[in-house]
Amino acid sequence: MTTATATRHLKAPATAEQFEYKNLKQGEFWRHIPAYADVDEATFLDHLWQQRQSVKTAEELLHTIRDVCSTEFYRDAEAGFRRAPMAVRVSPYAISLIDWNDPVDDPIRRQFIPLASTSLPDHPRLTLDSLHEQQDSPIPGLVHRYADKALFLPLNVCPVYCRFCTRSYAIGPDTENVDKVALAKTPKQWQDAFAYIAERPELEDIVISGGDVYQLPPKNIEFVGNALLDIPHVRRMRFATKGPAIMPMKLLTHGEWVDALTAIVERGRTLGKEVVLHTHFNAPEEITWITQKAMRVLFERGIFTRNQSVLIRGVNDTRERMQLLVKRLGHLNVHPYYVYMHDMVKGVEELRTTIASAVDTEKYVRGSTAGFNTPTFVCDAPGGGGKRDVHSYEHYDRENGIAVYAAPSVKPGKAFVYFDPVDRLSPAAQARWAVREIADAMIHEAVRKAGIGDEQLVLA
Ligand SMILES: *Cc1c(COP(=O)(O)O)cnc(C)c1O
Ligand code: SF4
Repeated sequence: MTTATATRHLKAPATAEQFEYKNLKQGEFWRHIPAYADVDEATFLDHLWQQRQSVKTAEELLHTIRDVCSTEFYRDAEAGFRRAPMAVRVSPYAISLIDWNDPVDDPIRRQFIPLASTSLPDHPRLTLDSLHEQQDSPIPGLVHRYADKALFLPLNVCPVYCRFCTRSYAIGPDTENVDKVALAKTPKQWQDAFAYIAERPELEDIVISGGDVYQLPPKNIEFVGNALLDIPHVRRMRFATKGPAIMPMKLLTHGEWVDALTAIVERGRTLGKEVVLHTHFNAPEEITWITQKAMRVLFERGIFTRNQSVLIRGVNDTRERMQLLVKRLGHLNVHPYYVYMHDMVKGVEELRTTIASAVDTEKYVRGSTAGFNTPTFVCDAPGGGGKRDVHSYEHYDRENGIAVYAAPSVKPGKAFVYFDPVDRLSPAAQARWAVREIADAMIHEAVRKAGIGDEQLVLA
């Protein structure tokens, strides 16, 4: 006779690697950069010092890194900047997080410093403003694409300039290769946007982006925040900033800015309206002890923070890298909200990945932590279809790298296509993309297979 014994199903104990997300860079890590060797903690944490010392031209950047990189790398970056469509600005914080023993493969270098040697030809179907934001813009600085929400762009400057920025058509000063579109940039010009929002009762949700609200002075944070809170039908607002990822110390040393944001969040709360912060971490290395301290300030003040990442090749496009980022954000009480497919932006083809790799990464990340800390992977459909769940394509031609999306509540009946980077395809597929007529036929074939009429295709 056997006696039933309770079986204990023990999960294997977690390995040390699984706690890597808690292992944040500590100490005065900036001092290994010769330019910052004598900078003490109080100075490095001073947001004004970070802004003043941010490098704003290719020459300044090259000067700062000359002592830490090889001549070969230096020449490569110099040539990279000459071709780049985006202006240059990098904070000392970001510069000191780059591994200068291997800058070519470094995830932070890849985001901010272009190299000539790694650059790939643009996808043949790529355009400036691939999201067609200008076509959905009723007045300068406002994009009204979705039924109940709008994107307000009150400025065109950022604390850093990201190579992959989807708004390179407007953000930053003109570059040798791009003359930027003008946005409304002064409180007087913003009135038109506020008036438009006030006239449209369906607009309940406003994203305040840019540019980047880190660069809005405290009085303008309050001005914009209060103007929008005053509109009765506006129920939700998000201030969007890359700042915490590349200059977290501002949240520790720019008290007036944090107070201004807190004032809007608190006034919103008394009105029953949600005001939150959206930030933009891409690489796990961007999160250090300084970030942890900074995000703690927001958490203690009850400022809810969500994160939007871009899926970038060599930065966060593997299962392990994305999982580490997501776990680290959760550790800081920042909710991972979205991971975007890299938009079809000029001059950064080597940073894009395929829809297939996004689908694979998403499958791995989902299930590894709390559902509310699991980001939704989206593709902002070129041509203005808006954000689509990456998995939700109507048809995906993996061989040729063509994903077809429909957006029934945004542009009913239409088909939108996202193209994988050509260098990731088979040699045969690469050869097909080289011939315009063959490429056209492949695109139309994919749309037909999606069951959507050919004439409904919207190209960027
Ligand atoms: C992303 C975006 C929004 C906000 O969309 P959510 O999915 O709610 O985050 C609003 N307007 C535009 C034009 C956008 O691109
Ligand atoms: S911070 Fe945002 S808006 Fe500014 S350059 Fe980077 S991605 Fe573009």
